[in-house]
Amino acid sequence: MHEISLIENLLESVLPEVETQRSLGQNVQGLAVTIGAMELHSAEAFRQAFTIGARDTLLAGARLELTIVQPEVNCPSCGFHGAFPDDRIDPHNPDPIMACPACGKPAAVEGGRGIQQLELLLAE
Ligand SMILES: [Zn+2]
Repeated sequence: MHEISLIENLLESVLPEVETQRSLGQNVQGLAVTIGAMELHSAEAFRQAFTIGARDTLLAGARLELTIVQPEVNCPSCGFHGAFPDDRIDPHNPDPIMACPACGKPAAVEGGRGIQQLELLLAE
């Protein structure tokens, strides 16, 4: 499952910071993740993978705030630039080209990839 390895990497990068915050007396309540839509099949699958992946870590039971960034299409033919409906893109295609929603000609799909932001949610 793609989400599991994604979560493993995410936890690996964030857990040392959780430990640091704990040692400073902070109560880490959760994690805010901003992620490209191309990285996950669904928010639900991502949440499930997080719950499973974090089970035996300092983030067990932590709240997960998920912000999903949609990819955008840039059309060289008509200049259309805007959000693209993600369910029409194959996430396994590293360089997707789709029909432009405005003019129907081939257009490059950009963005919506990678973990763009990770932030610990601390108790007040
Ligand atoms: Zn176009």
